[in-house]
Amino acid sequence: MEALVWFRSDLRLEDNPALRNAFENSEKVHAIFIFSKKQLEKHNEANVKIDFIIKNLIQLEKKLTELNVPLTVIKSDGFYSDASLIGEFIDKKNIDKIFWNNQFGEDEAIRDRQVISHLESKNINVNIFNDQMVYEPGFLKTGQGLPYSVFTPFKRKWIENFEMDFLDIEYQYQSRKNLNYLSNLKDFDFNFETTHQVNMNLWPAGEDEAEARLLKFLDEKAIKYSKNRNDPIVDGTSRISPYLASGVISSKKCILEALKINNFEFSSGHIGVTKWIDEIVWREFYKNIMFSFPKVSRGQPFQDYSKKIEWRYSEEEFTAWKEGMTGFPIVDAAMRQLHHEGWMHNRLRMVVAMFFTKNMLHDWRLGEAYFMQNLIDGDFASNNGGWQWSSSTGTDAAPYFRIFNPITQSTNFDKEGLFIKKYVPELKDLDKSIIHNPPKEHRKYCNYPEPILDLKESRLRAIEAFKIAKS
Ligand SMILES: Cc1cc2nc3c(=O)[nH]c(=O)nc-3n(C[C@H](O)[C@H](O)[C@H](O)COP(=O)(O)OP(=O)(O)OC[C@H]3O[C@@H](n4cnc5c(N)ncnc54)[C@H](O)[C@@H]3O)c2cc1C
Repeated sequence: MEALVWFRSDLRLEDNPALRNAFENSEKVHAIFIFSKKQLEKHNEANVKIDFIIKNLIQLEKKLTELNVPLTVIKSDGFYSDASLIGEFIDKKNIDKIFWNNQFGEDEAIRDRQVISHLESKNINVNIFNDQMVYEPGFLKTGQGLPYSVFTPFKRKWIENFEMDFLDIEYQYQSRKNLNYLSNLKDFDFNFETTHQVNMNLWPAGEDEAEARLLKFLDEKAIKYSKNRNDPIVDGTSRISPYLASGVISSKKCILEALKINNFEFSSGHIGVTKWIDEIVWREFYKNIMFSFPKVSRGQPFQDYSKKIEWRYSEEEFTAWKEGMTGFPIVDAAMRQLHHEGWMHNRLRMVVAMFFTKNMLHDWRLGEAYFMQNLIDGDFASNNGGWQWSSSTGTDAAPYFRIFNPITQSTNFDKEGLFIKKYVPELKDLDKSIIHNPPKEHRKYCNYPEPILDLKESRLRAIEAFKIAKS
């Protein structure tokens, strides 16, 4: 009998336990990917991310074809139709077992339960694996048996429980026996229209590209990561996030390669490398939060008191923020980077999110959705975690009175103003002494807007709103 692998957010061969187990269990292996534009859009997935997924499917298909595994893309109306679509595919083939890697979102879990019950009624053997993280979400618990809600003890436990065997991911795939049909990717109509402006050469598709990017970062930038990670013009981070978000590379692979250059140490050795591994653990932390506290997937804040915050709403300010026209050069440069690259530097994500939720006092959920709609690395758990951290509504969040001053952030992290000059070219002739907050006459001359708000007043307004909610 034959096996079916259902690809979801694991668009790779390496360190793909579902695929590996299918190969170990069957001489003939089929593969499917279910594509639903409606579902992707329902989850606010960005047009650029969908583009990236399609391009990665093409690369995945090439690799699977070399192993005699045809990839069939199936069009779906949404998660609710997946069970019957898989059932129909199985009915047409000689399949008796299915393999997939788990996804941990709430809607995904509901869909999977429906698929499992449908397939079990057909006597199909269902095999589920974890590829997204080192530990299954919810596995690491506090001494009281509760899920972690603070990062530092989570990380401690994460390291304490770590065994090097976890990184035993090497596997040589051997071609399977031929199936009498081909992949349908070439003829499949994704009905996809590009509406983003991102230069996709920044994000070449495929797991070979992901690996090359990882190794280049570790070779050239990782040692200096602690020093350079906050400086957006230096670009000292890995930019591996889009590949992790779509599963083109695994977190275990990232950790394994990082440990290789750090003598397999988590807490000593190169501080840049250990700091970088910490960031991968942050990713795992937020997936745990999403899994263990379902309220965050339902649009609710982690901190209950923050439901009482009276958010403002101004269409004009929201538009200025989205378009990179707030009159705060670092905020505008960051938002324009988002549109040009489908990606934003981490420091700037915090700056623009704090500006949005504190100075503008706008509901974090609006910013969270806008990010998802524009990020190539959109990942519900990390995005939600980042927004709730910045708005002080989340777990382990910034205290509500800690409000970044965007001008100070700009002078600290873009000292020479080079990042601003790159993304806000109308300011390119300004001296670094004034570029972070140009005087009125320079703004006029450069055709650059006045600030949309007063930093001091807006800061006090935010603190007051949080205080009232807390009282
Ligand atoms: C408001 C806000 C929204 C965010 N939205 C997302 C998102 O949708 N998708 C996403 O992947 N990350 C998100 N992040 C986290 C972080 O900004 C990005 O992961 C990082 O900028 C990606 O760039 P990189 O791959 O060069 O990171 P590196 O610095 O090279 O880090 C390596 C990897 O570690 C993980 N990582 C790094 N920082 C964080 C973090 N703070 N939280 C969780 N994981 C982290 C990412 O997977 C990243 O690829 C968000 C942060 C904030 C403050």
